[in-house]
Amino acid sequence: MGEFDLIRRFFTRPPRQAVLGVGDDCALWAPTPGMQLALSADLLVAGRHFLPDVDPEALGHKTLAVNLSDLAACGAQPRAFLLSLALPEVNEDWLAGFARGLLALADAHGCELVGGDTTRGPLTLNVTVMGEVPPGQALLRSGAQVGDDVYVSGHLGDARLWLEAWRGQLAPPPAVLAQARARMERPTPRVALGLALRQVASSAADLSDGLLGDLGHILKASGVGAELDEAALPALMATHAAWPLPEAWWRTCVLAGGDDYELVFTAAPAQRVAVQHASAQAQTPVHRIGRIGGEPGVRLRNAQGDLRLVQDLASFDHFA
Ligand code: ADP
Ligand code: MG
Repeated sequence: MGEFDLIRRFFTRPPRQAVLGVGDDCALWAPTPGMQLALSADLLVAGRHFLPDVDPEALGHKTLAVNLSDLAACGAQPRAFLLSLALPEVNEDWLAGFARGLLALADAHGCELVGGDTTRGPLTLNVTVMGEVPPGQALLRSGAQVGDDVYVSGHLGDARLWLEAWRGQLAPPPAVLAQARARMERPTPRVALGLALRQVASSAADLSDGLLGDLGHILKASGVGAELDEAALPALMATHAAWPLPEAWWRTCVLAGGDDYELVFTAAPAQRVAVQHASAQAQTPVHRIGRIGGEPGVRLRNAQGDLRLVQDLASFDHFA
């Protein structure tokens, strides 16, 4: 199967909202009048971001999910995306699974595949996504104010638990492992929550690199610090009373575990009811985990009420 057959068979569908989809030199899209475009790209490299033998359907899902998560963090409505692939070979079963996972998530969010590029090479996946947001309403990292509450959606650390189990560092029972693996391989982008938080949250970011690192981006961009209550952090959903996360790993997974694709955001205390309303509307749990303070850095309040500056748990940095 050649390049063009491959594109036609797996990645070409009749345009829905696009003026022109896959097949010409460019796709054409008519933006909704008055809206701003939100644009983002993510690159996934085999062996670095995923294991080459991961289930292709899950990989298709995740390739788009991590991009939708960026739109969610901006409060943007997903509209369309481009898909660029480097493939070592044409494996039709693999491509069919990948396309199934990718397009199912795309359809669930009304986000249309309109073009891309395909070449031979070491397995590498790129999505460039386009969303829309009313002018002035995008959620930015730079908007956190002293006195704001800090929130996080969903649960923290499940994906890291799976990674550590895969590395042989932890040995959870099969049911815990399966749930952690699902969180790593099939993250849920919090798109509905991001949309509901427009004009409610003062800042937001998605959790790709871990809470401390991604909240750190908000703090840096906003020129503020934060105090978090350890007891308020929504720890892993996969673990349970019969297999709690070993104490020594708790902070690593919950504070610095990457790949959760939850949202961390801030909002003024006057918005507490509005935040709960957004959570209910989006059917996504949110947890108030602390507040913004003036001093730089993240301070963690333990169960005894002691505040400590967190310095040791850096988030993942590809070049560190
Ligand atoms: P060009 O020669 O301009 O680079 P290509 O021959 O690479 O165009 O691609 C032909 C058409 O197929 C274009 O419309 C392009 O956007 C689309 N396309 C290529 N690869 C993909 C892909 N992986 N998914 C979706 N569309 C693709
Ligand atoms: Mg091309």
